[in-house]
Amino acid sequence: MREAAKWLQAALDGGSLFAKLHLAHLTFIAGQEDAALAHLKENLSRRVQRGRDTCAGCGQTRGEDTPMLTCSGCHVARFCSADHQKMASKKAAWSLWTGRHKDICGVLGKWREVGKDGVVPDSCTVDLVAFLAAMNARCPKDAEGAPEAGARAGFWDG
Ligand SMILES: [Zn+2]
Ligand SMILES: [Zn+2]
Repeated sequence: MREAAKWLQAALDGGSLFAKLHLAHLTFIAGQEDAALAHLKENLSRRVQRGRDTCAGCGQTRGEDTPMLTCSGCHVARFCSADHQKMASKKAAWSLWTGRHKDICGVLGKWREVGKDGVVPDSCTVDLVAFLAAMNARCPKDAEGAPEAGARAGFWDG
């Protein structure tokens, strides 16, 4: 029962992470670049905070003492196993919420450096805008406000 509750919490957290990313995308295509960047930065900060004990493949939370693989690209994402690392690069059910890891891996790695050695958030702006533009190019349906996407975001937002 406890496990199920934990899983649900992870799923909800993952879902709202997705909703934030979706919101960043929607505000970006509406031309509100500053708002979109704010949503994206919040999303990335949460990923950096939570990445330590959550598998980016299956989305399950693991104990701190559980050995996990770390993504060699961003050094943020963790995976239960090599299989789950592969899972994160495919369009699995879980990745519908989070996107494929390789799409966000680059900006996640850059965002991880913010705050270290005088790296300021503004130094990532160019990369974040490029990420939003690429996300937009991948989701032409969302750009037209597809009802399915809206319903999904609304559900996970609640
Ligand atoms: Zn996993
Ligand atoms: Zn990565």
